Amino acid sequence: MKIAIMAGDGIGPEIMAEALKVLDVLRRDGLKIETESALIGGAAFDAHGHPLPTATLKLAQDADAVLFGSVGGPKYDTLPREHRPEKAILGLRKECDFFANLRPAIVFPELADASSLRPEIVAGLDLMIIRELTGDIYFGEPRSISGEKGNRVGINTMHYTEAQIRRILHVGFQTARQRNKRLCSIDKMNVLEAMQLWRDIAIEIAPEYPDVELTHMLVDNAAMQLVRNPKQFDVMVAGNMFGDILSDEASMLTGSIGMLPSASLDANAKGLYEPIHGSAPDIAGRGLANPLAQILSLAMMMRYTFNLADVAMRIEVAVRKALASGMRTGDIAKRGEVMCSTSEMGAAVVTGM
Ligand code: NAD
Repeated sequence: MKIAIMAGDGIGPEIMAEALKVLDVLRRDGLKIETESALIGGAAFDAHGHPLPTATLKLAQDADAVLFGSVGGPKYDTLPREHRPEKAILGLRKECDFFANLRPAIVFPELADASSLRPEIVAGLDLMIIRELTGDIYFGEPRSISGEKGNRVGINTMHYTEAQIRRILHVGFQTARQRNKRLCSIDKMNVLEAMQLWRDIAIEIAPEYPDVELTHMLVDNAAMQLVRNPKQFDVMVAGNMFGDILSDEASMLTGSIGMLPSASLDANAKGLYEPIHGSAPDIAGRGLANPLAQILSLAMMMRYTFNLADVAMRIEVAVRKALASGMRTGDIAKRGEVMCSTSEMGAAVVTGM
């Protein structure tokens, strides 16, 4: 396994250090893992004048998977757009054709009261949202603002090719197959032709997955059902824009941004794995960050790129044990609970392995 390590900025290096301890345990227990690190984001800009240096991109291209921390910070906010740290992640997605974004929303029983919804609605939630990343209204042409002030027109175009829809739906079916075998395809076929095509293709390829139960839901209803009864879902698959909105909504059901990993995969299950949160400049460098999203990103890598579900589960169980033993970083601690540091949380996970 060749894993590229890109810690990035802010809390990135702190939480990555804890994920590397988990990797060390796996290595010690016999997995053949090679790692190589590279600068990315603001750190790369400081050292090389570019957020995604050629050597970093090459490392990502040559590796089987990338473990990514987070990038960005106030220091870089005034840079020209092409030099901003966030450009690095967009560049990696594009150059490596990471078209499928997998975002689990998991509520650990110990943290059910961190959600803004009632604990009985979210306790035990384990949902996966799959978002298409390369098509849709974010990339469709024509796009413009035209006309004279007072009469201006803004235009964007929802654009999907059959091939783009097909490949993300296959990821949806295959992911459902590895879980509870239920896939809900999200569209807006009642008003959008591009979404009618989406639904037609979902129906067309469903017979290839007779073991997976396919349902369809309009996006407005899906947004409502996610807060009404989120546990009805196993895997949801959506286009770029609807997936963007629904995956943020779902992550907030869990109430703990420091706990949620994600994956962005190409057609061969090579992937970039990262926490959904940013570089948290407000707490960086103080040992306060929760490293669990980073560690759970590593677990996702084991499951989706390396097909090692048992190893993924071993990491996930160790995370649960750390939570069950009462370890809480500041983001998940309740008032009055003792808080642990980033490295204490990492150490608790390693102990639980
Ligand atoms: P953020 O996710 O960094 O932080 C939001 C809040 O959540 C902060 O209060 C932060 O302290 C807290 N938080 C986040 N992760 C945490 C963790 N692991 N443990 C404990 N608390 C945590 O979002 P932001 O403040 O809007 O953005 C900060 C920077 O990160 C910006 O420069 C932004 O562009 C960048 N960003 C990067 C990525 C990425 O690298 N993929 C994603 C989002 C934002």
